Amino acid sequence: MKVYFKKHRVYLKYSFGLSRSNNNWYDRIYVYLKRNNITGIGEAAPSPRYNESIHLIEKILQNGIKIPQSHTSYEKIWKYLKPQLSEIKSLEAAFSMALLDYMAKVEKKTVSKFLKLKQNKIHKTSYTIAIGRISQIEEKVKDAEGYKILKVKLGTVDNDKNIIKEIRKYTDKKIRVDANEGWKLDQGLEICDWLNKYNIELIEQPFPSNKIEDTIKLKEYTDIDIYADENSCTSSDISKIHSAFDGINIKLMKCGSIFEAINMIQLAKRYKLKVMLGCMIETSVAISAAAQLAGEVDLIDLDGNLLIKNDPFIGAEIHKGCLKISSNYGLGLNLKKEFINLKV
Ligand SMILES: [Mg+2]
Repeated sequence: MKVYFKKHRVYLKYSFGLSRSNNNWYDRIYVYLKRNNITGIGEAAPSPRYNESIHLIEKILQNGIKIPQSHTSYEKIWKYLKPQLSEIKSLEAAFSMALLDYMAKVEKKTVSKFLKLKQNKIHKTSYTIAIGRISQIEEKVKDAEGYKILKVKLGTVDNDKNIIKEIRKYTDKKIRVDANEGWKLDQGLEICDWLNKYNIELIEQPFPSNKIEDTIKLKEYTDIDIYADENSCTSSDISKIHSAFDGINIKLMKCGSIFEAINMIQLAKRYKLKVMLGCMIETSVAISAAAQLAGEVDLIDLDGNLLIKNDPFIGAEIHKGCLKISSNYGLGLNLKKEFINLKV
């Protein structure tokens, strides 16, 4: 088996604003594991919030990754690979996807069948309205026409109410709010009261990840479910934060692999936390990998690929606001003709 990698710059339909950043494009790295005619592919979408970067990933890959040629089980190959990835979670995610894509293709199964995961659920996914110009909101709500739930980025306190009021001029769909650590305690308490009348399904990460005591106060104060995101990176976080949240958002780019995501789901269920599957701005490679886990979780928030103008792949797709995983083997991906430069 040989390792290859390629960089791809994704351009966004609208600039992507969070409480802490604003971007028009991101670089992504595809990792390929190839033997004979079978290629497994994975994607790394590193985030500066977690001190990861494309530069760091390229350096590790340029130094070379060794693959054992004799092991046949994915567990053994993963054990060999993981220590070479320097704890860069997005890079681990990419290799775990590529490995499972490859192994499942060899066995002529989807990854979810290969891992014996549940699949028989209908998954409504949300569509993200990031922070941007208020004047663009009408158009963004129109883009989200096919979706039953909106995910709205807040956390810039002066604008939050205007954003919600503007959205409510055009739709009464359920809203998931994501504050991306943008509020202080008094602001969070005040805005939760105000949000109560706006059909809000949940609030994600209201406060900075070191403000667990504040989060506990907010959870006790409001009936709206509070979900962890920046506070729920890996399974080791769950025991520390379970009393502060009603649910957690699991992302492959934070936790590092499909295997670790499964650990997190199992542990969250033991703590009676609801589980949402989320994503960064990712192309269909990483989205289709996360989608393989959809049958195991409560909520789906996998729309990163829909916000991109130049997604090179077709994989998991959305029909009438519901996520549908491909029945093709592995992650079920097809490269679009115009991106032939990304073939290895
Ligand atoms: Mg979030």
